[in-house]
Order: sequence, then structure tokens, then C-alpha cells
Amino acid sequence: MAGQSGQTPASSPQKGASKSTMDTRHLLSGLRDALAADQPSQKRLDHVVRLIASAAGAEVCSLYLLRAGEVLELFATIGLNPKAVHHTRLRVGEGLIGSIAAAAGPLATSNAPQHPNFAYRPETGEDPFQSLCGVPLVRGGKVRGVLAIQHKETRAYTAEEIETLQTVAMVLAELVSGGDFIANTETSLNAEEAFGPARLTGMPFNAGMAVGKAILHRAEITIERLLADNPTQEVKRLNAALAAMHASLDSLLQPSGNTDKDEVLEAYRMIASDRGWVGRINEAIRSGLTAEAAVMQVAEQIKTRLSASTDPYLRDRLSDFDDLSRRLLQHLLRPADAFKAAPIPDDAILVARHLGPAELLDIPSAKLRGVILEEGAATSHVVIVARALGIPVLGQCSNALARIEAGDELLLDADNAQVLVRPAEEVRSTFVKSMAARANKARINAEVRALPSVTLDGVSVSLNLNCGLLLDVPQLEMTKADGIGLYRTEIPFLSRGDFPDVAIQTEIYKKVLDQSGGRSVTFRTLDIGGDKFLPYMTHPVEENPALGWRAIRIGLDRPSMLRQQLRALLRAGAGRNLKIMFPMITEVDELMRAKELLEKERERAHERKEEPPTKLEVGAMLEVPALLFQLPALLREVDFLSIGSNDLLQFVLAADRGNRAITSRYDPLSPAVLTMLRSIARECAIAKRPLTLCGELAGQPLEAMALLGIGYRALSLSAGSFDSVKLMLRSLHLGPLTAFMETLMESPDRTLRPKLAAFARDRGVYIEHFR
Ligand code: PEP
Ligand code: MG
Repeated sequence: MAGQSGQTPASSPQKGASKSTMDTRHLLSGLRDALAADQPSQKRLDHVVRLIASAAGAEVCSLYLLRAGEVLELFATIGLNPKAVHHTRLRVGEGLIGSIAAAAGPLATSNAPQHPNFAYRPETGEDPFQSLCGVPLVRGGKVRGVLAIQHKETRAYTAEEIETLQTVAMVLAELVSGGDFIANTETSLNAEEAFGPARLTGMPFNAGMAVGKAILHRAEITIERLLADNPTQEVKRLNAALAAMHASLDSLLQPSGNTDKDEVLEAYRMIASDRGWVGRINEAIRSGLTAEAAVMQVAEQIKTRLSASTDPYLRDRLSDFDDLSRRLLQHLLRPADAFKAAPIPDDAILVARHLGPAELLDIPSAKLRGVILEEGAATSHVVIVARALGIPVLGQCSNALARIEAGDELLLDADNAQVLVRPAEEVRSTFVKSMAARANKARINAEVRALPSVTLDGVSVSLNLNCGLLLDVPQLEMTKADGIGLYRTEIPFLSRGDFPDVAIQTEIYKKVLDQSGGRSVTFRTLDIGGDKFLPYMTHPVEENPALGWRAIRIGLDRPSMLRQQLRALLRAGAGRNLKIMFPMITEVDELMRAKELLEKERERAHERKEEPPTKLEVGAMLEVPALLFQLPALLREVDFLSIGSNDLLQFVLAADRGNRAITSRYDPLSPAVLTMLRSIARECAIAKRPLTLCGELAGQPLEAMALLGIGYRALSLSAGSFDSVKLMLRSLHLGPLTAFMETLMESPDRTLRPKLAAFARDRGVYIEHFR
């Protein structure tokens, strides 16, 4: 854990870190001379590590380069035993150096020997050195080596020191990719691996199937000139390229009338105008880089910072910045023909490392059948746009660019998280039949959507939608949901460059209410902290952020922030029904304090003669187990209760919701969890308070069936789960299930899943996927 092993997350230097001693500009100009010197390659590398060590005041500077077979070889060092050069080798992932290459990100530790990944190599003579800071050499999205400095003293490294090393590593990555040190053919794939049929797996970001021809999107942009003498000239070039990029984006990102797409593109445009981003590029130019090298360096820094975030939403913004950086580079390097279109087949499947939404729109959507990404996440902008266009996306498909050639035939099966490359004819014809069957099923689902959510014995179940972006709201109509059971208000905050003021927030909430066409909407107040950080707000470094300063805790400590949000919600809800819900309530007192803030805002609005909501309902999210023991008192104070099962279960089971190794260990269908959930349902029924469950549990058909069996009548789930949950409940006799579940609750079994699955099978309850 941070602090204990002395490891410092590279993007958050510890307090008391030694002051930076490296002068980037000076170091870069020394490097330029060293690299230009007419010397054998090895001599130049030796000179380079000496320069870096001296600039960093480090006893050691070492350079490792990647060889075939994922091996990192020590190519140059000052401070370690010179005999280790070309002898010491580490596999990617082995030792601290290997970990830096594996994570493709920097690592800084004040106590290297104590680090869990430390691998001792006696031949290097590194015993006296305590602290280590290493950065990867990345080029074209691939790690080419690792640069590391070491100090005898125990010391932390500042963010500036790490960034300077990253800049230097970028220059070195260019140098070594020239093939002077390792032949470029050494690390490429052998022909057999490249041309046979192959099956690659990934994650289903957007469901669907497609047959088509591969078109490759490679991120490779070669920068020949890295260092510049005249920063003013470079700033001019940058400004011209920025202006050209904005003009071309404006023509590409014309509003389409498709809310989903337009909303994403608006967010993208905002990122393109991010002052912080442009400011950092200017700063890098002032340190001695050319405009193009500065763009690339800032892109690497953003990559390091955002990919270190555990918040998927922030990590997704990475592809937007990457997309913008590439566009800007193209304008800098090839201003005349920056976007000449290559011929695109009529059935294109785009394969990329990651993409921004604008890059997707560069391809006519009529020709685009599917997308395969090596990285990315289901919530990235490009995936949201693809979803709006009905294009299947397979994500996290590692090595796709290495295994797929342009023009290859692909059978993309995003439903089953795979792509078949260069398939045999029999495979192709079976695939085409499955596609037809899928289309047929989609038709049946569409018919079921129009039917009411009622069990076979006539019990109505309210199905509501979980959403967080304006562009999710139209799914209300698509799914025929009863309302929005959970609107995660923090999501629009996460994609912005600054804190939205009351007017902006009011606008967002108004649009949500307008678009929901009178259906009920439950707004959850900001749930930040934990794994969701606002880039423009300082969050403390915490050892256990899920148990830390988050959600209502931040709201109560920063009352003006919460009050602004409540003010915006009251304004948006003027003259209509408004439901507000507070997240992560741990004790009734917190709810009371939140309600007091709401009351103050109501009084303020009243004094200003602002129209109030017709009806205002206030609820709490039950996510923290302590609240279970105050339920009667809580229920007297709320109009409704909503269970956040994602958090509640992680706390009840002491199992991190994001750690697969642990979460799969415990089953939510255990007697303990179901007994707890049943008793909440009973208390709510006694207190006559409406109860909803809005965690992921509600979206899984067997789990949803169990919830109905213990008394739940309202669920909130994501759009993708609607059809399967509705099919389940429309094929269920609830009476027999309720009686059956009563007999199971005392069971000593670790899970009731097999018994519930058997019940469903025997009674013909339609469960789409049995786990
Ligand atoms: C939950 O915890 O179940 C929940 C719905 O909130 P979130 O997933 O946003 O933490
Ligand atoms: Mg939660």
C-alpha cells in the first residue's frame, strides 16, 4: 500500500518529496548535442545516461531496451556494474524495470528493495541504492524500453522529475526505434502467426455481430524533429495547427439531431478547447521541444495520469485526448493533406488501439459494420457514439493490430466477446446463420418491450432505468421503462474541465426532465470520491478510497457545493415532480443534515419567488450496512429508499466490488445476503415506504427473480438488461416462487443459485444466461 512500501503513485508525489533538480531545457539541449555527435551508437547511449544521471543528481542512470521474446536488456548504465551491460535481462513484468514496461507507466519508489516487485540482480551491483524512478520508452503505443535513475538516499521523486524523465524517454524512444540498436524485424511477429485463421477475444462494449473487411487505424506518427531552438516560432506553429484542427472538427462535428451523438460530440469539443491541455503543450515547448514533440509529450503525461485513475470514466477520456493529439500532430506535420481519405470497403470493420469519437465519424457510417479496440472501455465516447449508430464494438482485444491485416475477413461477435480472423468457409456460413437468428430474437424482444411488466399471476413490477448522461435518457422510450430510478448526476461532472455552475447544472437537469416525458426521475446528488474523481477538484490520497471521503460525506463537508446542486435541481424541477436521493448515507443524522441544506435552498427559492416543484420527494440510498440498524428511524425521515447493492454488498461481504478475484468468491444469492435484503423489504412494507433496488443485481435475470421472490416490486437497471429481466418476470408465477424462497432462507448453503436456477428451469421461467 502507498506509504508502507515507500512506493509513490507516479502521478501523486508524496509530501516532502525532494525538490526537483532537473532543468528540462538544459538537459534536452545536452541530449541534442549527444545524439548529434558522430559516435558509435553504444558511445552515444553511454553519453546519454551520464548526462541524465548528472542532471538528476542520481548515482545511477540505466537504459533497458526491449528485445524479442518480451525481454528487457540493459543497454547502458552509469553507476551499475558496467559488466552487466548486455548481460542483465529481465522479462516484461519481472522486477521493477519489468513492471514499468508491463504497466507502460512510470514507477517511483523511495525504497526499491522493499517493493513487492523488486527482483535482486547481484551482477548489477545495485545493493547500495535505495530509491528508484523509472519511466517507459513508448513509441507508436508500444513500449520499447525503460529508463531508470537510482539514488543511494531514501527519497521521493517529484512529479516534475518524473515528467522530465518522461520527456527524455520520449526522445530516446525515437532514437532507439530507428533500428540502430535492435533490428526492427526482431520484435515483429513471425509469418505463420500473422496469416493463419485466428480467434481473438475481448470484452463486449456494444453488442452485435458483423461480417466485414478489416481496416486498420494505426497510431504511428513519426516525429523527426524533437528539439527546437526557437520557442516563439514553435508556439506560432502550434497556434496555426490548433486553429486548423478546430476548423476541421467544426465541419466534422455538425449537430446531427441525434441527441446521443450530439451530446458526446459537445463534450469532445469541450475537451478540444481545454485550456489546461493547450497550456501544458505551450509549457513543453518552452522547455525546448518542437511543437509536435510537445504535443506528444503532453499526450504521454495525460496517458500516465488518466490511466492511473481507477475511475473508468476518466480513463475513457484518454482516447479523446489521444484522438485530439493525433489530429493536432497531423495538422502540424502534414498540414496540406492531413485527412486524405484512404479507400474504405463497403463492409468495413475498424481495428484500432483506441479511438476518439471524431475518428469514428471520419468513416461514413453506412460503410462501418463494426469496431475492434485493443483498449478503451464500454463508457468511452467512441463506444457511446458507436452505440448511437448501432455499431457493435469489441473492446480490450489485445494484439488485434498485430494479428489482423488490412483487408482480412472478420467475423465480429461482440455478443460473445470475440472476433474470428480469416475464417474458413464453413465457419463463415454458420456465423451468417447465427446473425440471422439474432436478428429474429431482436424482433421478439422489441415485441415484448411494448408489453406490461407483469408476472403470470398478475403482479406488476416497476422497471426503471439507471442512467447518467443526457444521451441515456432516450432509452426510457426505447425500453418503455416506468422512469429513471437512478440518475447519476456526477457523470456529466466527470467529463468536464471545470465545475459546472448552477446555471449549467439547471440546464442539464431540466433537459433530463424534459426528455423523460413526465416519467419519474430520481436524481442522486453527487457521488464523487471513491473511484470517481473530478479532475478539477483536489481529492486526498486515501488508502481505502471506497471507505473514504466520498458522496454525501463530501457534500456535507462542502455544503456550498451540495447547495448549488440542490438549487439547480429545485430550479429544474419548478412546476413538476422532483425526486432527490442522497448517496452513501451512513447514519440518520447525515440525512437530516442533507435535508437541512435542502430546506435552506427551498427557503431561498421561496424568498426569491421562484416556482417550487409541484411535489418534492426525498430519499436515501442504502449502501452502508450501519444504516440497516437504524432503518425505522431512517424510514420516518424519507419518502422512499433505494438500495445501492453494488456498494452495500461490497461492504457487507468485505469484498471490493472492483476486484474480480474477490467478488466472484461470494455470491449475492447467498442466504445471508438474501435474508438481509428480505428484512429491508419487510421494514419498508411496514413503514409504507416505496423501495427500489438500483445496483447491478437488479439487471441479472436470476438475481432479479430472487429479489421478486423476497418482496421487491421496483427495480432500476441499465437499458441493456431490460429485455432479459422483462422476459423473466413475464414468464414467472410469483406465488410459488415466494413460498419456495421462504423454505430456502435458513439453508447453510454458500449460495442458493443452483436451487433458484432449478426452480426457473422446472417452472419454465425464462432466464437468458444462467451463471
Ligand atoms: C450502488 O452502489 O449500487 C449504486 C447504484 O451506486 P454506484 O454504482 O454509482 O456506486
Ligand atoms: Mg454506490
